[in-house]
Amino acid sequence: MKIIDAHMHFSDNPGFARVALAAKHENTAAHLLQTFRENNIVFGIAMGTHNPGKKPGVCYPGIVDLAGEFDPEHYNQPSCIVYCAGVNGMELDRCDMESTLEEFRRVLRTKQCVGIKLYPGYDAVYPGDRRNYPFYELAREFDVPVVFHSGDTASPRALLKYSHPLAVDEVAVAFPDVRFVIAHYGSPWIVDATEVAIKNDNVYLDLSGLAEGYFTAEEYCRKNRGYLEHLKTWMAYMDDYSRLMYGSDWPLIHIPSYIEVIRSVIPEEHREAVFYGNALRVFSRLNALL
Ligand SMILES: [Zn+2]
Repeated sequence: MKIIDAHMHFSDNPGFARVALAAKHENTAAHLLQTFRENNIVFGIAMGTHNPGKKPGVCYPGIVDLAGEFDPEHYNQPSCIVYCAGVNGMELDRCDMESTLEEFRRVLRTKQCVGIKLYPGYDAVYPGDRRNYPFYELAREFDVPVVFHSGDTASPRALLKYSHPLAVDEVAVAFPDVRFVIAHYGSPWIVDATEVAIKNDNVYLDLSGLAEGYFTAEEYCRKNRGYLEHLKTWMAYMDDYSRLMYGSDWPLIHIPSYIEVIRSVIPEEHREAVFYGNALRVFSRLNALL
């Protein structure tokens, strides 16, 4: 089965080295590419991480840099890694918006930038905050989706009210011609995330990061039987597998085990769509890279 990993990370941030080890991986480009080959993963869509940039007052798009210093115009990362330009919401009040949007346009003009990523819970900025609107307009202009980190947060200092999936409803209505992705299925608010996707045709759900660290699929499925049944129940209730995309959240998870866990909750007839085809529709720029 050919796979697109619709949510992962590709950053040399030292924190990722530690979580990679806990998942029995190494946070290096060579190790990831080998894992991709072993598991038939043809593309990874990385969520751009912090980029201090050069000029003060400009909020530079979050980037990918595990394979060397990021160059916005001459892409020097592996060709199977594309990315969503990250918005640093915490800095929005200090940003000169015009130069910031120019930096986003600069990366969005390159074919490897396939989306925009926002971090509402970490940045304490609601999806519906008017300060985010220029980024949704950019998403419309460049025909790329906007991904929200949703649900539980990795840091106890983050604020959950901003990362609740229900907050995505407002922007899905305000921008009906923009595709929005609720990352991590908004877990544990799976019922709420399902309803936001049912109500809004332009909302998608990624299945990344529902677990972390190392485990075998058998172990995980046994221990989390109730959780997985709950997830399966609400996916079946939605009855539209065209809205779901596989993602790993690598390096936080052991990739082969996680593929097996997600495979086990997706009916066989929908696996090709969830693991591959849907990502090509949502992140439509990938088609030009195939
Ligand atoms: Zn992530």
